[in-house]
Amino acid sequence: MILRRAVLICLLAVGARVFADPPNLVLLSVDTLRADFLGCYGCDWDISPNIDDLADSGLVFEDALCEIPLTAPSFSAMFTSRYPRMVGVTRNGLRVDDTAPLITEHVRDAGYYTFAVQSNWTLKGKLCGLNRGFDVYEDDYEQRRWAFYKGERNAERVSQIAQELLKNRPADKPFFAWIHFSDPHAPYHYHREFSPVKTSLYKLDRKERSRVKYASEVAYTDYHIGRVFKSLPENTIVVFAADHGESLYEHGYLGHGRNLHQPSTHVPLIIRAVNVALGRTNTPVGTMDVGKTILGLLGIGSIPGMLGCNILHETIPHDRARFMETYGGAVPGLPGMKQLLEATSPVYQSVVKEGFKLICSENQRPVLYYLPDDADERRNLAPHQPALYEELNALLELWNKTFLRGKETVVELTEEDREALKSLGYLD
Ligand SMILES: [Zn+2]
Repeated sequence: MILRRAVLICLLAVGARVFADPPNLVLLSVDTLRADFLGCYGCDWDISPNIDDLADSGLVFEDALCEIPLTAPSFSAMFTSRYPRMVGVTRNGLRVDDTAPLITEHVRDAGYYTFAVQSNWTLKGKLCGLNRGFDVYEDDYEQRRWAFYKGERNAERVSQIAQELLKNRPADKPFFAWIHFSDPHAPYHYHREFSPVKTSLYKLDRKERSRVKYASEVAYTDYHIGRVFKSLPENTIVVFAADHGESLYEHGYLGHGRNLHQPSTHVPLIIRAVNVALGRTNTPVGTMDVGKTILGLLGIGSIPGMLGCNILHETIPHDRARFMETYGGAVPGLPGMKQLLEATSPVYQSVVKEGFKLICSENQRPVLYYLPDDADERRNLAPHQPALYEELNALLELWNKTFLRGKETVVELTEEDREALKSLGYLD
């Protein structure tokens, strides 16, 4: 399928928001999944048949960006509908502010059975604090990632546990589930049976080899997502999302968290519900919108202070400004002054508005791209469009003054935490 930049085709839920039979909802998320590696977002490799089926039966948001390309911070944005900086989560290893309401608390208070299946070490409840509001938060990982320390749970195991929890859930309540897959996160394991190419990896150059291995992780994950789909009861809304993407040597970078280019920030977002029209939309949205939209889908009122939008019911202006920033990604390895110094300022900040994207940093010249004509972000317009640069830069400055950083709570890491985070590339 071709990524369409055309106008909104169809959108908006219909019908009453008071349900005779409350729907279940599953938030299916895949760590480190860039949108353009899915068929429904234009990938030529046939590696995501199950997610593509979901897209065909749901509403696809073509222009979804994360607020920060880091795992725990991005999910903090989803679950609070606020900027990660406001709830104290600018990096992994910082716990979401205890006083910040999470959507899960409200969903549970509304009578839902809530459970999560985790797979990424940074999302362990004790580290990120996102276990608040869950009846069951399954984060007891036992698998090793290659020869590294046990840092994750693979998709097969995630889908198994999810199916067990679905089967054994209380019969007298609707459920809210967050099922999170982490396989596309580096280091990439090569799933030969899911490879999109027949060529030997050794015949590929470094960049193409990484793309093929990453694609095989996506295909492997998609297969197990398909198993979860088959286990979902009727009357279950599906919200499919990613926390951030992955740079596969674009702009000379492999990974995520250390720049704000599209491979790291453009994420898939798909919603399937009986009262949501099928189709595709290029409405500008962000991962921050997910939380408020979930509350809306369940007919639960939003929480005061939420800054995200209900993207199914609110009119989103086409010139909405979206803001992103990143703090480098790694968890400070040692407590004390090093943490304080490293937590001081973002490495990059960006504002995206009407296709224009400005990226600023303290140490480099600002770059300004026009994404509709320059998807690969190669032509810097900043020197040629000073007025536009000034306008966007002023927006960024205003954003910094308006949305102040909250209290940051550094979690005390155990030796086990350190080893696991190191294997994922998250420890300095
Ligand atoms: Zn992540």
